[in-house]
Amino acid sequence: MMNYNNNDLGCTYYFDRTVFKVWSPDATEVRVQLFKTGSDNEPDAQKLESYGLKLDSQTGVWSVTVFGDLKNLYYTYLVTVNGVTRETQDVYSKAVGVNGRRSMVCDMESTNPVGWDGDKHIYVRNSTDAIIWEVHVGDFSGSPSSGVSEKNRGKYLAFTERGTTLNGEGRIKTCVDYLLDLGVTHVHLNPVYDFDSVDESRPESGQYNWGYDPSNYNVPEGSYSSNPFDGNVRINEFKQMVQALHSVGIGVVMDVVFNHTSSTDSCFNRTVPDYYYRKYGDRLLNSSGCGNVLASEKEMVRSYIVNSVVYWANEYHIDGFRFDLMGCIDTTTMNLVRLALDEIDPRILVYGEPWSANLGDNGIAFEDASVKENAHKLSSRIAMFNDSFRNALKGNNDDASIGYIQGNNHNIYYVISGILACSSNTFLKWAKKPTQCVTYNSAHDNLTLWDKLMKSSNRDDYDTTDEHIIAMNKLSAALVFTSQGIPFILGGEEMARTKYGNHNSYNSPLSVNAIDWNRARKYKELVDYYKGLIAIRKSFSPLREPTTVTVSNTYFETNGRAIAYTVPNITHGEWDMMAILFNNGHEPAKITLKSHTTLPHSWVVITDYESSGVEERKRIDGNDINIPPMSVLILIDDKSFDSVKKQK
Ligand code: CA
Repeated sequence: MMNYNNNDLGCTYYFDRTVFKVWSPDATEVRVQLFKTGSDNEPDAQKLESYGLKLDSQTGVWSVTVFGDLKNLYYTYLVTVNGVTRETQDVYSKAVGVNGRRSMVCDMESTNPVGWDGDKHIYVRNSTDAIIWEVHVGDFSGSPSSGVSEKNRGKYLAFTERGTTLNGEGRIKTCVDYLLDLGVTHVHLNPVYDFDSVDESRPESGQYNWGYDPSNYNVPEGSYSSNPFDGNVRINEFKQMVQALHSVGIGVVMDVVFNHTSSTDSCFNRTVPDYYYRKYGDRLLNSSGCGNVLASEKEMVRSYIVNSVVYWANEYHIDGFRFDLMGCIDTTTMNLVRLALDEIDPRILVYGEPWSANLGDNGIAFEDASVKENAHKLSSRIAMFNDSFRNALKGNNDDASIGYIQGNNHNIYYVISGILACSSNTFLKWAKKPTQCVTYNSAHDNLTLWDKLMKSSNRDDYDTTDEHIIAMNKLSAALVFTSQGIPFILGGEEMARTKYGNHNSYNSPLSVNAIDWNRARKYKELVDYYKGLIAIRKSFSPLREPTTVTVSNTYFETNGRAIAYTVPNITHGEWDMMAILFNNGHEPAKITLKSHTTLPHSWVVITDYESSGVEERKRIDGNDINIPPMSVLILIDDKSFDSVKKQK
């Protein structure tokens, strides 16, 4: 199969002409059909001219230049292969009409919001400096409790509202103002490319979906815009969202699903039948568990994926990418994604799920799949979710089993390995460095952390403020934020987010999925605990170390239940030593701290059972430390604590 390497496929708009280019080497005829609107069910709907494209037999690319100003006209291709003609939107669409069935000729420049030229990417120096908060656009502001104006609720534009408060009462901050207080560095958005499962033409239906069913990879989803019929609007409003987050110093990560498409009756198969998907004989492979899997190892699929992320980074100023079911994608493609993004900026984040639904049906060799076992073949700046740490912390995702935070000590080895981002030679190791490990305990999939704590405690009073449940949640948070790697939380984890026991809410209504901001008030103590831990992480650079320096210098002590470790620091202007202690039992535990360097005579407690932060709570002498039941202690050597305080 011939390939084409230039990045000019799709339509390129000029005010006096538009160039259409599409790769379809097996086609015998390709025409482009113009329309007035994005669908036939709109006022003004009208079929306009069509034009034949000409094949370049060297590359398999068909093209035509149409003169005149085609701005905002819609188009489809009619592609004839083996005597069958199929109509399709452009594989390389940059803009589409309602529900993505027709592409639009777009003057991208004119979609830029005011001030877009001045918009800058938000980067952290090392990926381990990032603190990632995952959210679905609808969930963020879909509840009236968000205080966002009714018209923007659940939309891109909710992110542009400042000064929002709980129920609009003017007291408790919500949404972007809340995130600023919390201290996260990146918002990770669940699918915002154009997906299939929500009918954009019927917003009143209240349809909801996470959107893991891509239809047009290079176009924003329409249902989050104020007008999905006009192809310009979603692009403009998406950019306003990015601009608003950037203006407060928060980066934007996009969830990309290059493992499968919504169905195989897609623009890909209609344009080049039988090319884009992996097959075994006549059977479609299904390692994605979604009915098909994209053949990332094929040249034109690979370049499509690489060009797509580059496009989002350049056109929309996206600061990071999270690859869904990265195990379906080959390591060569992932490394090429990293290289291409490095040319824009090496600080763009790349991380993904190092698994697939069914690796046995992947169609590429296991040693080529982007799974943990092959982490050594990937760039050390392609990170992977650490599921063994997650499971050791809380037990299996959705059942009643328990992990360390609920008092199970069987997997303490995996807890300690996870604290070291699985990059220590002494413990379980698969990551080359902490930059290759995403450290987390909850995400959009499966029970929320709170609901898992409920399930494993055999309870269903999701609105409880039971101290014991909150104590387990605090243990989890402290373990995540003091560990090596890239910390990640499901948005709302810090306010005991519940979906009332629903472990797979991908199409549940907003009443289940939307963040209930009332919980920011009800669980303020927990929110403040997370906030304090984030502040601690930002104040002590060894926790954010991108290399294995901290991993090597950390000294562990455990009695098989309690875990304690010391972390030295030589960074000028920061504390010299931190000790972190966990007790998951119902009795106090006593541990003698040890260190590779000199231990202090006295410690300042900055985090305990009650609260966390960078302020002194009390002092303790010596290195035989009593840890109260179900609690965390974070200690700083008293000398450097006092001298850092004096400098401020
Ligand atoms: Ca859509």
